[in-house]
Amino acid sequence: MEMISFEKAFGIVMGSEVITKTEKIDFRDSSGRILAEKVVSDTDMPPFDKASMDGYACRLQDLELDLKIVDTIPAGKYPEKEISRGECSKIMTGAQIPPGADCIIIVEDTEVLPSGKVRITGNSSKQNIAFKGEDIIKGDVVLHPGKLIKPQDIAVMASAGHTSVLVSRKPDVAIISSGSELVEPWELPDISKIRNSNSFQLMAQAGRTGARGKYYGIAKDNEEETFLLIKKAISENDLTIISGGVSVGEFDFVPAVMKRAGVDIIFSRLAIKPGKPTTFGKVDGKFVFGLPGNPVSSFMLFELLVRPFIYRIMGYDWKPLRIKLPLKEDVSRKYSDRMALLPVIITDDNEVKPVEYHGSAHISALPHAFGIIEIPVGINRVKKGEIVSVRQI
Ligand code: AMP
Ligand code: MG
Repeated sequence: MEMISFEKAFGIVMGSEVITKTEKIDFRDSSGRILAEKVVSDTDMPPFDKASMDGYACRLQDLELDLKIVDTIPAGKYPEKEISRGECSKIMTGAQIPPGADCIIIVEDTEVLPSGKVRITGNSSKQNIAFKGEDIIKGDVVLHPGKLIKPQDIAVMASAGHTSVLVSRKPDVAIISSGSELVEPWELPDISKIRNSNSFQLMAQAGRTGARGKYYGIAKDNEEETFLLIKKAISENDLTIISGGVSVGEFDFVPAVMKRAGVDIIFSRLAIKPGKPTTFGKVDGKFVFGLPGNPVSSFMLFELLVRPFIYRIMGYDWKPLRIKLPLKEDVSRKYSDRMALLPVIITDDNEVKPVEYHGSAHISALPHAFGIIEIPVGINRVKKGEIVSVRQI
């Protein structure tokens, strides 16, 4: 199958027809989920003219007078007394402004006279009133669908009385690792074996998107075993990710097994380094990614292709955080036929510096990296001082 550009692959993946399933949940459980409906406020905010400071509610035209205190209004109490000429009410932050009053003079700008009257000593011109409906009018759409719900949205839902919220369902994502050399992390690797790091890295990456990662274990380099595991995973999930076994080695069964499971393979070679054997296919509205076995490659291709796709399934148009800064040192390479991905840090003086990186098996390079930069096809050298775009990982 022909090698295609990353941009083309991204377009294919993101252009796939997906179905966003939804569910109603308690708003208190919705942080980190994707909103799937409009949230409309059932009230004005503030719901009444409200004191925004502690002080005295009075009339702007009476500020020269010594004012008689006619009432004390704590937050939550309806103000019974109207303010007339020469009068004021002591008022607390959050309390409703009494009728007749049009300003709050803060406590710090007043003095209580021996007579019990209040004299205004300061000359602040602030009104210190938050007016009814100045933030939100009843019926306003306060949150729009497709939004990643954050704690600050929970406050908006709470204020709007929106206690049951429609969100996208968490896609079920199967994770399989392929390779007869793999043992689980809690096992001691025998000679010629290595621990399976990809599955748990991928589970954590899937979890970070809000998907429900499900681990299906290690498929040995055996066609039948790999077939059965892939088939089961596809039938039980929205998306299946298998790492390893997608190259062109003698024991790389995954593409053949995918075909046997009915998967229509759309691409299987990308002009990207690392990540060349990345494979994508579809079967009956389900999706399958074959990621390379090396843990750095599988990490990066998940970030670049799978993560945005999972968000798309949830109806979220995610954009990774990118920071544009100058490169601290020259970066060069011999071949430029593929887009290169390099892990980098941002130095204290805000320059971008590649981390020590020995290639796609070097898992200990990634924890130090802040992000990755992309060197486009056809570019052999990026010079010190050139602005590069760092994608946070
Ligand atoms: P493969 O894509 O199967 O040819 O694997 C490429 C390299 O990645 C080999 O050195 C594998 O041992 C290694 N590898 C494959 N799967 C995993 C995994 N789940 N965890 C760690 N390393 C892996
Ligand atoms: Mg393998």
